[in-house]
Amino acid sequence: MSCIVVVGSINMDLVTLAPRFPGAGETLLGSRFLTAHGGKGANQAVAAARLGASVSMVGALGRDAFGDQLHAGLMREGVDLAHVARIDHECSGSASITVAEGENQIIVVPAANACVTPAQVEAARETIAQADAVLVQLEIPLDAVEATLRLGHLLKVPVILNPAPAQKLPHEWLQLTSYLTPNQHELATVLGEDTHSDFRDLMRRAPGPVVLTRGSEGAWYRDSAQPEPQHQPSFAVDATDTTGAGDTFNGALAVFLHEGLPQAVRKACAAAALSVTRLGAQGGMPQRAELDAFLA
Ligand code: ADP
Repeated sequence: MSCIVVVGSINMDLVTLAPRFPGAGETLLGSRFLTAHGGKGANQAVAAARLGASVSMVGALGRDAFGDQLHAGLMREGVDLAHVARIDHECSGSASITVAEGENQIIVVPAANACVTPAQVEAARETIAQADAVLVQLEIPLDAVEATLRLGHLLKVPVILNPAPAQKLPHEWLQLTSYLTPNQHELATVLGEDTHSDFRDLMRRAPGPVVLTRGSEGAWYRDSAQPEPQHQPSFAVDATDTTGAGDTFNGALAVFLHEGLPQAVRKACAAAALSVTRLGAQGGMPQRAELDAFLA
């Protein structure tokens, strides 16, 4: 069984369906409201746990009702929360999502996620030392991301950095990263390059291994064993909702990394393909038995 540590965000998604987007100062009647458990960190933790990994999370929740619900949800998935802090003076992170006319508008409030510290990462040192892989994204403070990259490097535990939401990162951080998992736009932003550049050129310019996702086209990967970008086509499915495809991909990549990069990318594409056949981010993530049957 793989042991995975996820250092990242936990959010409550507040989703409103409306006939159109309201203008400034306007009140509209929506048609439906629902809450869903999200945050890139929590999503990737759930994806890995459903695929049979033993998963520990480092993160932060508010001491509020959403915090209680999110905590209970992750516990139900079997995620170890010993390193998830509860912050007395903060709300839990949220994403207010309005869906109208086939588009969405999203406002994310990091709240408790902004309280994740390098000291929390350090406190998880023993858990990280025993992990097969660590996953981290950019929805928590950058000093905590840096602490994760440095600790993983020191302990020789592979760290997968999913650079979302994208921002330009110090070159040194990319050298500390075992696998960078952007989409094309994110890779250009992280490298400080033109977002219209050819993605294969961008992959060659990255200082370390890259696994680049390209939606329905699948994924491309490059590391020292495969210095030229290699393509893993996507699996043909009827796509219903691509929310969380990237998070499922990252969680699965971490779980199967010990099988070697080509196999891990193939299984990550398969898990992500299954996830897009169903609604919701966590709602669509497959269980291990389902993935095994899909690949058999
Ligand atoms: P993100 O949501 O982070 O932008 P992508 O859209 O690139 O991520 O999707 C991640 C992975 O999910 C892709 O590499 C692919 O393997 C899988 N995927 C996404 N959309 C589809 C689809 N329509 N059919 C099959 N697989 C898909």
